[in-house]
Amino acid sequence: MPETILIVEDELSLQETLAYNLKKEGYIVETVGDGRSALEAARRLKPDLIVLDIMLPEMDGFEVARILRKEMSAAILMLTARDDEIDRVVGLEVGADDYLTKPFSMRELMARVKSQLRRARLLREEMGKDSATSMPKHETLTFDNLIINLTRREVILNDQVIQIKPKEYELLLFLAEHRRQMLSREFILERVWGWDFIGDSRTVDVHVRWLRQKIEVDSSNPIRIVTVRGGGYRFEG
Ligand code: CA
Repeated sequence: MPETILIVEDELSLQETLAYNLKKEGYIVETVGDGRSALEAARRLKPDLIVLDIMLPEMDGFEVARILRKEMSAAILMLTARDDEIDRVVGLEVGADDYLTKPFSMRELMARVKSQLRRARLLREEMGKDSATSMPKHETLTFDNLIINLTRREVILNDQVIQIKPKEYELLLFLAEHRRQMLSREFILERVWGWDFIGDSRTVDVHVRWLRQKIEVDSSNPIRIVTVRGGGYRFEG
């Protein structure tokens, strides 16, 4: 079944160009031009991917992403026009999966779209595998005083739920599911962010730093998420 993409862009010529190119690739595409319509369309369509501009009438892309992130698992690819927006998107406080800076080429856009959709497919397959073999689905992962609740997407440390951003949670879960394995920054970037290009692995470092501040006793001497020299990271438990 073809995947569904919602385009949220108020600049009409760009909206049309995006829609034309994505339809040509065989995707089901719907377009809207403001934040409120984006919420309505996303709830109705349940798209696989949302291409989301930041500067929008009614409600900006940050707000749209924040709301939709809580309601659905659609991948969110943000379109930024200004440098000061990039910091917020890269920090991913809003829960975006990837971003593109305007102006961008259609080739670039297509690469990011495919990469995000591939990542979503992998996730679905992994989840499908669990139910097919009727393995009891673990609801929590426990590492001493650190508990990850998969159903509630919560992290509990010393019996307290800690404040954690969506991407930090995904990263921690990914590390925990590969306990004691050395994971390269590139591999983490591909599997957690869906970015299959090298050069943004600092994103991984920044998120690891944030996670350490939350789950390590001493974040400058980490014992849970350790750095592997010349390699990447390893979750010890
Ligand atoms: Ca705009």
